[in-house]
Amino acid sequence: MGLIDTQVFEDDMGFAQMLDANDALRHMRDAFYIPKMKGTSKDEIYLCGNSLGLQPKLSAKYVKDELIKWQQLGVKGHFESEFPWMPYHELLAESSASLVGAKTTEVVCMNSLTANLHFLMVSFYQPTDKKHKILIEDHAFPSDHYAVESQIKFHGYDPADSMVLLKPRQGEDCLRTADILQTIDEQADELALIMLPGVQYYTGQVLDMQQIADAAQHHGITLGLDLAHAAGNIEMSLHDWGVDFAAWCTYKYLNSGPGSIAACFVHEKHHDNAELPRFTGWWGHDKSTRFKMDNTFVPIQTVESWQLSNPTILSLAAIRGSLETFDNAGGISPLRNKSKQLTAYLRFLLNNRLKEQVGIITPDDDLSGCQLSLTIKTEKPGKAVFDAIEAAGVTCDWREPNVIRVAPAPLYNSFEEMVQFVDILEKAV
Ligand SMILES: *Cc1c(COP(=O)(O)O)cnc(C)c1O
Repeated sequence: MGLIDTQVFEDDMGFAQMLDANDALRHMRDAFYIPKMKGTSKDEIYLCGNSLGLQPKLSAKYVKDELIKWQQLGVKGHFESEFPWMPYHELLAESSASLVGAKTTEVVCMNSLTANLHFLMVSFYQPTDKKHKILIEDHAFPSDHYAVESQIKFHGYDPADSMVLLKPRQGEDCLRTADILQTIDEQADELALIMLPGVQYYTGQVLDMQQIADAAQHHGITLGLDLAHAAGNIEMSLHDWGVDFAAWCTYKYLNSGPGSIAACFVHEKHHDNAELPRFTGWWGHDKSTRFKMDNTFVPIQTVESWQLSNPTILSLAAIRGSLETFDNAGGISPLRNKSKQLTAYLRFLLNNRLKEQVGIITPDDDLSGCQLSLTIKTEKPGKAVFDAIEAAGVTCDWREPNVIRVAPAPLYNSFEEMVQFVDILEKAV
């Protein structure tokens, strides 16, 4: 679909249907199971792909395939099947890498997101008395905050001295790039690590990862990114930007099922650095000699050396189905183009009809992905509005203290749903 100028948008169901008719990706919706409104056969308006993506039909098939192989082959499934379990994670590398702009040797699916942040900080946070600080947002996702705080304590430092918290300016919701860069400049001598999100979970703001990476490299500071809300949502170039490491979960925009195995990126410049400390396990050991079991660790010369354990194949099968669905849509680039249109259309409808009643704290243009974070400005409390739209068949989410997050996903949401959603929200406020 070509980009349609937001100037010509119309607040009208016929216009939305025209946008859908022109959407080259509209058939992708059929690749998913869409939940139904309670007691009906009508599709829910599902705007919660930022929290748990919907189930791709391919994922259901691939999980079933592996259950059957286990029934039929037992332990031989590790080696004797079309997609043997031993190297199964390798099937995911190419598509995962292309989603985040990495080389296939730089991305692997393993563990969970928070576990990956910890394991990567074991390697990439080596504080000294001079350089011991970690830069993180004041309003980071709690798990990231806890992980950073506990790593600092683990090394014998005090989070009160060693955590630098980035805050938006008074009266503002989002971080300004200039302020982030200024803090990096000011604290450079003491910063050991910068740990920031690609997309902020509460506001939906996309951070300027390239400029942050440039600043980090300029000062010789390690940069780690949490891409939980960025992977499968926006385009990235982790390799070219020179990001040191990153981690993300696969159950949000990557649609791989609740608690599914996470992914991580380590830049190839670190792959053969034998000095890096790390917590090791047998799955990180050189594949050709892993089963010699001689207790001399020989790391694989890729990001795979950070793996600990043989992974949950049922989860990898779900990820494989989801990544193949992304590939079938042509990858992240056409999806991002549709996403910009879809979210711009939603923003247009909200501004056109509910400007007085509903605020949007998510920044405009390239500083947002799928998600818009809405605040309710009427007498009615935000939580009551949220409850009312949920009752009317919308699934989205409420985040304390005061935000309704709505995230149209370009793989399965339609322009028509944007009008339906705003109709429902208008009644609710
Ligand atoms: C969703 C999310 C998490 C969740 O962590 P898990 O380890 O997968 O439970 C962590 N950090 C951020 C920024 C998130 O958005």
